[in-house]
Amino acid sequence: MRLIFFSILFCYSFYGFSQSEFCGTSVKDQQTLLAQAEQYKSFSKRDGGFIYVPLMVHNVSNDNSSGFYAPWNLFETLCTLNEDFKPSGIQFYLEKDFNYIKNSAWNDHAEFSTGEEMMYQSNVQNMANCYLVSNPAGNCGYFTYNGDGVALSKSCLGKRSHTWAHELGHYFSLPHTFFGWEGIQYSSSKKTSEYQSRVFTAIENVNRDYCKNQADRFCDTEPDYISNRWTCNTDGFSNSKLLDTKDSTFRVDGSLYMSYANDDCMSRFSSEQMDAMNRNLDGQRSYLKRSNVVPKYINVTSFDLQFPEDSMVVPTRHVTFSWDKVPNAKYYILQISRTESFSIIIKNLLLNEPTTEIDSLIQGKNYWWRVRAFSEFDFCGAESQVGFFKSEPIITSLDETKADQSYLVPNPVSSYGNVQINLVSANQNDAQIEIKDLNGKSFRPFSIINNPNSILINLGYLPEGLYFLTARFATSSKVYKMIVKND
Ligand SMILES: [Zn+2]
Repeated sequence: MRLIFFSILFCYSFYGFSQSEFCGTSVKDQQTLLAQAEQYKSFSKRDGGFIYVPLMVHNVSNDNSSGFYAPWNLFETLCTLNEDFKPSGIQFYLEKDFNYIKNSAWNDHAEFSTGEEMMYQSNVQNMANCYLVSNPAGNCGYFTYNGDGVALSKSCLGKRSHTWAHELGHYFSLPHTFFGWEGIQYSSSKKTSEYQSRVFTAIENVNRDYCKNQADRFCDTEPDYISNRWTCNTDGFSNSKLLDTKDSTFRVDGSLYMSYANDDCMSRFSSEQMDAMNRNLDGQRSYLKRSNVVPKYINVTSFDLQFPEDSMVVPTRHVTFSWDKVPNAKYYILQISRTESFSIIIKNLLLNEPTTEIDSLIQGKNYWWRVRAFSEFDFCGAESQVGFFKSEPIITSLDETKADQSYLVPNPVSSYGNVQINLVSANQNDAQIEIKDLNGKSFRPFSIINNPNSILINLGYLPEGLYFLTARFATSSKVYKMIVKND
């Protein structure tokens, strides 16, 4: 009994420890990649152009579909990823759509072997496979040589996160800048040379004479001994001073993605690291290269929402939302929120067309909505302005309906009828009239006569149904709900 108790305690504390880890890429895999990198000495220069690498994104949820990474956040983190890789000349694109996997055991995997199993079963050949999960074996992410894929924690991703760049750095052969110090806690109170028996690479010094054979073998990444996540000072360097084996002092450079500095410190791969990734892409991973890739970018900065129009009152079901078609856009993300700041999001939909039908709005509420457009190459995309609409109020009695609609008579009106808007103030004349059905389809009235206290509209012909009649005055507008019904 006591044995069981201690085993549980041990497992728990071990798990708790590993949760705080940044990267789970094993030392062995980094060594393997370094050894392979020795085979490839050069790569073809691309004269400032980009090489496009197909990224296969596997979005993993629990068995019951809960916990997929939201598409809005996914494109934000992909936008940052491509920005991070831009100086290297490598850009990622979506040759295939996102792959959605429902598997609780893979989504929350404590063991690397489970993650590798996920990769064996799901990897798409000749693409850079990345898996978004809730728990990648207690880390923010890892690359595994056996699984030949990257696993990333959804909670570590986002607009300001460089975790994806770090793990793809491993994927393209880069070791950590502190390579050799994994799992070792450095302290300047102990002579650095005394660490050499535990650090399994030659410890790197401030003097760069032997840099090609020390630590990560790059000469333009300065010494780094910090193997736990750390915060930099305002210059982007470590707060603490470290001593090398010759007692020269230095601070660690947190700007490199392959360090363990916090996201806010990170901003670059070094020149030699970028060359190494390109050598890897030209050599070991040449299967990722495609010929004749024609990138498509979103060339507009914004675009217009179409329906519902601003401040419109819409029904709670079967509302067809639409917005401008954006040239080159393959993906649209529609967000509908209950708050102007989009803090409470009720719809977060990834779509391929500039329209979709929305059901299940709550009665009598305010809503804000916005759309972003992306292409398979352009993850930053363009964003619409924010639209505002209301859902129909809860109707508790017939009298309330009558009161609400009393300025539009008659209502219901017949298909070929005339309808009159009774005006309540003098500045409401010369109105523009628009009539739309629930799908946003416009109908042109046959005639509009503006009188001093009313507007008379001849409908021409409208099929039976519910319509929104919008009257736009010089300084205001009003939307009326109009029912067309024939006796
Ligand atoms: Zn790492």
